[in-house]
Amino acid sequence: MQVRKLAGDLSIAPQIEIADVEQIARLGFKSIICNRPDNEAAGQPSFVEIARAAHKAGLEAKYLPVTSGAIADEDGAAFGEMFEALPKPVVAYCKSGNRSSTLWKLWRAGQLPREANSLGERIDGILSSPQASPDAMGDRAKETGERGGAQMRAVHHDIIIVGGGSAGVSCAASLLARKGDLDIAIIEPSDTHYYQPGWTLVGGGVFRAEQTAKPMGRVMPSKVTWIKDSVIEFNPGDDCVVLGDGRRVTYNRLIVCPGLKLDWEGVEGLSDTLGQNGVTSNYRYDLAPYTWQLVQALKTGIAVFTQPPMPIKCAGAPQKAMYLSADHWRRKGRLDDIDVGFYNAGGVLFGVAEYVPALMEYVERYKINLNFNCKLVAIDGPGHMARFVETLKDGSSRTVETHFDMIHVCPPQTAPDFIRRSALSDQDGWVDVDTGTLRHKTYDNVYGLGDVTNTPNAKTAAAARKQAPIVAVNVLFDMGVHKTRSIYDGYGSCPLTVERGKIVLAEFGYGGKIMPSLPKFVVDGMRPTRRAWFLKERLLPPIYWRGMLKGREWLVKPKPEEIR
Ligand code: FAD
Repeated sequence: MQVRKLAGDLSIAPQIEIADVEQIARLGFKSIICNRPDNEAAGQPSFVEIARAAHKAGLEAKYLPVTSGAIADEDGAAFGEMFEALPKPVVAYCKSGNRSSTLWKLWRAGQLPREANSLGERIDGILSSPQASPDAMGDRAKETGERGGAQMRAVHHDIIIVGGGSAGVSCAASLLARKGDLDIAIIEPSDTHYYQPGWTLVGGGVFRAEQTAKPMGRVMPSKVTWIKDSVIEFNPGDDCVVLGDGRRVTYNRLIVCPGLKLDWEGVEGLSDTLGQNGVTSNYRYDLAPYTWQLVQALKTGIAVFTQPPMPIKCAGAPQKAMYLSADHWRRKGRLDDIDVGFYNAGGVLFGVAEYVPALMEYVERYKINLNFNCKLVAIDGPGHMARFVETLKDGSSRTVETHFDMIHVCPPQTAPDFIRRSALSDQDGWVDVDTGTLRHKTYDNVYGLGDVTNTPNAKTAAAARKQAPIVAVNVLFDMGVHKTRSIYDGYGSCPLTVERGKIVLAEFGYGGKIMPSLPKFVVDGMRPTRRAWFLKERLLPPIYWRGMLKGREWLVKPKPEEIR
């Protein structure tokens, strides 16, 4: 049992067990408040059971259940009233302690003078003011990490962003564009920032790899503190993350966007042979040039392109690599001698049906063999063999093997391990946020965006471009800086490079709703067009580097939505 002193006579704890009650009494507490609704989880003791044990131990027990994400000012007031009436000291608990702590903050905020111009500022005032809460700060100052015998002091920032990729840098820039004096730190271990959408064009011989990378220091907004480390653990109940070197960083608000994990080990033999034996992937910066080498070198034989189960980032990327390769072979007059096969773990060519007819024209033009429900499970690089498990209509499965002269692999993808094992994840491992506000469903001061969330949109930089300003607005709304919040509609985009010089520009939101950014007479997204290619090759890179990463929200300015 972990009881943490929050302020004065109030301590908080994560879920307590019946056996803990006696120890709570021995620690000198006189009362218990339960803020967790009964039956939230299997095996959780009910309030009646806890109250029975409390009375036996001579303690008072009160029940004030609240739901995460739906805690109102009135709940805070009720909490304060209950706390004041109870014998002290008091321990309050919920699942993690976070809701109890929020209730206390709301109650204290309500007690501050009305001149404080927003709830967010009042809460922040309490958190950051040692006078207002000496005990809380005392506890925070004691939060130290220990590594190699050395004690390290905790660092605190108002806003912490985990991940300095497309989503993280854009979100920081959008926040600063609205309020330039924010205290923001980005935790990011990498020296290099990548424009991953450019890797398809590297694999297609259009871009050089170097055009898709910049030193991280050059894309970090100048007003941001860059903490060059990895997060390894989240303690959302304590508003704290733990870094790889053991340091703890506390925050008032947390924005989580470390992307997803490419699971190269998820295919037997793959990582041993990547970059040799004709095995490549545009999903890695260093391998995309190898794709183009292989494509140029192949004169005859079998070319295989694979797609793993969803969700993956840029679901069109495995096909884009295939169409650009086949187009090269067609132009060189080699296509009749090259057998192109697409092996997709899913059951359809593309998730939004409206785009399939245009893609099928290219499948036919390039004489591509489509193999659905076929999941790549093993690769023998030196033997040039790929093994798949095909799921049949009756639910049974069989093994399918093919020889290859070149194979482009899109690896299986999951949430990063440190996210999967954290309290922030849903049952599938992704960060569990509201699809509209992008706010965490349990922790009110946590937001998520980019590839790591469980929102059912296309995981693309285009989606992050739309999400970043929305998260910025909503965080500022929470802080009382903005009067309105904004709602994400699920927009994402996938420019399908069907041949060199032409693109089918898929743009859609939640539920596959078609959402073109430009009028049909400018770019018809259902058809392959040169204008869409021009957009991808010439316009989108500068829009990314000079617009999105700088907080210039071209075409994605969030619309305000009044709170009902
Ligand atoms: P990322 O950009 O991947 O950034 C995540 C960051 O988090 C990284 O910098 C990483 O170092 C950091 N990080 C990881 N772990 C930690 C940790 N423990 N602590 C702190 N930081 C951490 N999108 C499009 O819109 N259009 C396209 O045409 C397109 N094509 C694509 C083609 C390919 C081949 C690929 C691979 C992707 C493509 N995408 C495309 C997808 C797009 O690149 C991603 O959706 C986008 O980069 C997601 O942004 P993100 O910030 O969530 O993740």
